[in-house]
Amino acid sequence: MQPSFEALQLSPALITVVHDLGYTQPTPIQIEAIPALLAGRDVIGQSQTGSGKTAAFALPILQRIDVDRRELQALVLCPTRELTAQVGREMRKLGRGHHGLQVIELVGGQPSRPQRDALERGAQIAIGTPGRLLDHLERGVMKPDSIKMLVLDEADRMLDMGFGDDVGEIIRFLPHGRQTALFSATFPSAIEAMSKEVLPEALRITIETPDEDLANIRQLKLCFGDDDKLLALCWALQSQPHGSALVFCNQKATVREITEELSRGGISVDRFDGDLEQFDRDQVLARFRNHSVRVLIATDVAGRGLDVEGLDLVINYDLPEQAEVYLHRIGRTGRAGANGVAISMVQHESDWDIEAIEKFTGHEIEILDHSASKCLSLDDLLKQLAEGPKMETILISGGRKDKVRKGDILGALTGDAGGLSGKDIGKIEIQDKISYVAVSQHVISDAVSCLNAGRIKGKRFRATHVGR
Ligand code: ADP
Ligand code: MG
Repeated sequence: MQPSFEALQLSPALITVVHDLGYTQPTPIQIEAIPALLAGRDVIGQSQTGSGKTAAFALPILQRIDVDRRELQALVLCPTRELTAQVGREMRKLGRGHHGLQVIELVGGQPSRPQRDALERGAQIAIGTPGRLLDHLERGVMKPDSIKMLVLDEADRMLDMGFGDDVGEIIRFLPHGRQTALFSATFPSAIEAMSKEVLPEALRITIETPDEDLANIRQLKLCFGDDDKLLALCWALQSQPHGSALVFCNQKATVREITEELSRGGISVDRFDGDLEQFDRDQVLARFRNHSVRVLIATDVAGRGLDVEGLDLVINYDLPEQAEVYLHRIGRTGRAGANGVAISMVQHESDWDIEAIEKFTGHEIEILDHSASKCLSLDDLLKQLAEGPKMETILISGGRKDKVRKGDILGALTGDAGGLSGKDIGKIEIQDKISYVAVSQHVISDAVSCLNAGRIKGKRFRATHVGR
């Protein structure tokens, strides 16, 4: 029988939270890693993306820190700002029963001052990218002496991005007796070497990826031959009714081009690539998560670790150059037991690059029958794809630090105060200093003016409609 969360020596408070979040059973990596980390062991954990590695270290951290002590006790290193934010969200979700818990995110591209202030106020958990963390350590802003736990998350990606030296430098600042955990989806030799050096005594956990793990992702290829590729993309989108779709291209220029074309066709679409400023990246992802953007066109910047609920379709507009990247891309769908579809667009069914992927995954990819879509013109296809209810996103200039909660925003928009109906309000996401709320397109201007006229928690905040 699968062990339950109860069997993992988690505190009753944390067990309640995971059940409230709808996690009925721990995932294999959680089953192995949680008891070991709670027992104080160093752990090296390898399992595929989407297998719940975040909670595997977040839960033990939450259990092992002392919230009454206002000092830094756990440090989590992540490769990118987006992954930092994602780990931060999961950590706060799981830690919501811990009163007095302060989780801070320390990433580059943002002013240092507020981060320093937050450190001084005594956050217990810091999550961040290596460059900025090192900077805080070197300036003496971050006091490492009280750190008991260090996590290197997505370690393979961190090394790929050239953070190896920074990670080494950070480790030199930390107390010797600390506990260390390293999580990675893959185990190239560079990770092997790093593990030997940093956690020589660690318990090594490897969760093999059984073939069935991709079983809830239906893999298809669309062979477009001599037809127009953009038209073929529309066939792919139309062939699979989807809540949200993520389309991967290899070049930023292609990303822009397709985004413009689809947008002109009235489709709810936006782009995500390395050219966007950090703030815009955050905004696009927030809008994708709350379904204001239904189709996101992206480069591989979005290929690893991103977790969007309800993402049921991934399309490879261009095939990735490495077969392994294919797995990371399609792994954005079919997360946590949900079903997903991955369509790869190829000119011919036996193109060598798709065959290389089939060989690598040991899985023959089915051919998508798109004859039905083929009868439609591009205009008709775009019209069909543009149909359906649309959401828009409002950015509110207040967040967690201003004590803004979801219920406050909901309350301001509905009832006597706002007059909107609950069904027009979508996902509400509270961040540190800002919040996002999704509302139906037809009430967007009412919602914006209502938020600007009213108060939340007795305070006035600025609300702006954000979009392309
Ligand atoms: P990884 O880091 O291994 O790629 P994540 O930690 O991002 O995976 O988890 C993927 C998704 O699974 C997240 O949405 C997370 O909330 C969810 N999840 C984690 N643990 C469980 C569980 N035990 N049951 C159900 N969902 C879970
Ligand atoms: Mg992860």
